[in-house]
Amino acid sequence: MSNTNFSRLRFNFGFLLEAPLGTSRLNEISYPTIQVSEDVTLTPLQGQFTATRTSEGVYVDGRFQTSIHTECVRCLEDTLVPIIIQLDELFYYPPEEAPKGEDTYTFDGETGFIDLAPLVRELSLLETPMQPLCKSDCLGLCMVCGQNLNEADCGCKADEIDPRFAKLRSLLEE
Ligand SMILES: [Zn+2]
Ligand SMILES: [Zn+2]
Repeated sequence: MSNTNFSRLRFNFGFLLEAPLGTSRLNEISYPTIQVSEDVTLTPLQGQFTATRTSEGVYVDGRFQTSIHTECVRCLEDTLVPIIIQLDELFYYPPEEAPKGEDTYTFDGETGFIDLAPLVRELSLLETPMQPLCKSDCLGLCMVCGQNLNEADCGCKADEIDPRFAKLRSLLEE
């Protein structure tokens, strides 16, 4: 992953480290579109989350509504699939006290920033359906010539592929 750009999902919560346990801050986000990582772009990304100082670090919880850019499994076109992201994660501070050997997030007290991008990326991929479709009745590609059948009928002979078999095949693929 590229580190040349600062993540746009970085938030300064340095003040929470000085604050009493239980102090929290509500944050609203609204991005028309945001590239979270090389492989995840979300359009739009909206919602809110709370960051709360706990004895173990900073706890982040919230809910984002978004759509992820992906590829339809039938017609291979770029498509936007709506997903909901539920945040529920502890960013350990000090980082050295994070449990070892687990996939944990830590809070870098020196910068005071929490970067939500890796967490949002992970949750987005988890919420993305295994077989994303541009629409539930996507016609897919012609198996003879590769034409996108949502856009045009290619004129390949209809009896070359019996529609019942095409349907059976798509069921098998799922
Ligand atoms: Zn499609
Ligand atoms: Zn065709």
